[in-house]
Amino acid sequence: MKPPLIVGNWKMHGTQTEAFALARHIRRGLKAIKGVEVVLAPPFTALAPVSQAIKGSGLRLGGQNVHWQTEGAFTGEISPKMLQELGCRFVIVGHSERRRLFKESDQLIANKMLASLRAGLRPILCVGETLEERRKGTMPRVITRQLRAALKGVRKSGIEKIEIAYEPVWAIGTGHNATPDQVSHAHCWIRKVLKELLGEKRGKRCRILYGGSVRPDNAAELGRALEVNGLLVGGASLRARDFLNIVHYFLA
Ligand code: PEP
Repeated sequence: MKPPLIVGNWKMHGTQTEAFALARHIRRGLKAIKGVEVVLAPPFTALAPVSQAIKGSGLRLGGQNVHWQTEGAFTGEISPKMLQELGCRFVIVGHSERRRLFKESDQLIANKMLASLRAGLRPILCVGETLEERRKGTMPRVITRQLRAALKGVRKSGIEKIEIAYEPVWAIGTGHNATPDQVSHAHCWIRKVLKELLGEKRGKRCRILYGGSVRPDNAAELGRALEVNGLLVGGASLRARDFLNIVHYFLA
């Protein structure tokens, strides 16, 4: 199995100076990164300084979003090639804030998955249900639809590079994390769907991260839930000490 993956999604927080300082702080707190992969995903404008700050440390860089074309008349967008050149190895695709606030569709997310893989990036595909969908009991159906759509065109060779993040929309930025039982249930469902879609062997190897109000005081418990192979951390990744405490649970 691959090592656990911990991703810090800084969202739209941090000027270049602030992001550089935060990345340096995190770097200083992680003398040796063993048995875990750690990714920092700052805003686009801070990718270059964060790349400088983590150079040679074993920390990895990720984008928070990407366009599906290599270049063109797409005002305000960033291509996979541009992320790659800045040193990104990972990119978050289909975050619920992108789906909800920017109306990203399943098809658009599928295009981004393919474009990311083509550029050699590892896409972290976010899936998850809203509170209403959970209340109606449609979580498995929603997640299956999201996974099926996003992985549709992905060739067998690209599958090894894909990461999945289960992020229930009602748990993101709300302070109400899913319980370990809810996480286990959703992750086991995702694993089952991945095996059906990708085949037993590949479906088993794909990492599934949990994201949604992860903090130092719940990270260990959430990390022990069934089929959890890492965490996607939003708010708590903006505080070096909190993020480091979360990562420390997973260090070998
Ligand atoms: C996220 O943005 O992906 C996230 C999980 O945020 P938070 O940890 O703040 O809920």
